[in-house]
Amino acid sequence: MPGVTLIEQNQGPYYTLGAPERADITDAAPGTPLLLTGYVLDDQCNPVAGATLDFWQADGNGSYDNNGYVLRGIQTTDENGAYALTTVIPGQYPGRTEHVHVKVTAPGGPTYTTQLYFPESTANGGDRFYVPELDVTITSYDGSKMTAHFDMVLPV
Ligand code: FE
Repeated sequence: MPGVTLIEQNQGPYYTLGAPERADITDAAPGTPLLLTGYVLDDQCNPVAGATLDFWQADGNGSYDNNGYVLRGIQTTDENGAYALTTVIPGQYPGRTEHVHVKVTAPGGPTYTTQLYFPESTANGGDRFYVPELDVTITSYDGSKMTAHFDMVLPV
């Protein structure tokens, strides 16, 4: 199973503790629907069941909800190590290309913090945090809905 060993990135200024447990973080946030799926894997590429993923991101206009939990949610991988996030394509904001933040924690393990990006965004080159290794793979996009995939391999 292919996957990218997670590269740690800063969490930035907009993380909020205590997000609700849910796989659909959209609420009524503006933006183009995005379904992001993938697996959490250990360094031997075995699936990690019961890993928590704490996602947060900007809406399609590049705004975070810093008072509530719109576009914030914690989910747990299933017995196959799979996750599925229902959200919107994040917008750009000053200095930042489109990105989704996530904290990944295997059962009993440390927490890894990273950010996921979108290939071929025109803003990637102007974002000092962007690394192509953290690009999701876009599996479909018709302008009104995107599906994408990203497998996360936990570092040793
Ligand atoms: Fe951000």
